[in-house]
Amino acid sequence: MALGISDAVSLSGRVVELVKAGATIELQEKIMELREAVLNAKEEILGLRTELGELKRAAAEREQLIFDGMIYWHEERGGKKEGPFCPRCRDSDSKLIRLHGLGPGANYDWNCLACNTLFVARNSRFPPVYRG
Ligand SMILES: [Zn+2]
Repeated sequence: MALGISDAVSLSGRVVELVKAGATIELQEKIMELREAVLNAKEEILGLRTELGELKRAAAEREQLIFDGMIYWHEERGGKKEGPFCPRCRDSDSKLIRLHGLGPGANYDWNCLACNTLFVARNSRFPPVYRG
């Protein structure tokens, strides 16, 4: 098995102990710098892994979102649609905010309580494909 960044961290610690037993000051300093660089690299890798996980999750979520020309719907397993969700909040802030249906045209007119945007289907060139 190949040595990973965690192995490098523990190995560098052991090297420091060995060097202290019989090395020059300059060598000890360079080994300490090397250890710090490895620790920084480990921290960077952990951050990148977290970021990668978030990006994968966002990509998977985006694949399941359907834009009907005005608003987003989330396609659940089995083809069932959930939502709708605000395109303004999704596109600008990456937030999935559920829209609230308005009045007698609840299937067609929607309001976002987060950004206070009103979505009126009759004003859209692309009427929603969802019919409830
Ligand atoms: Zn919104």
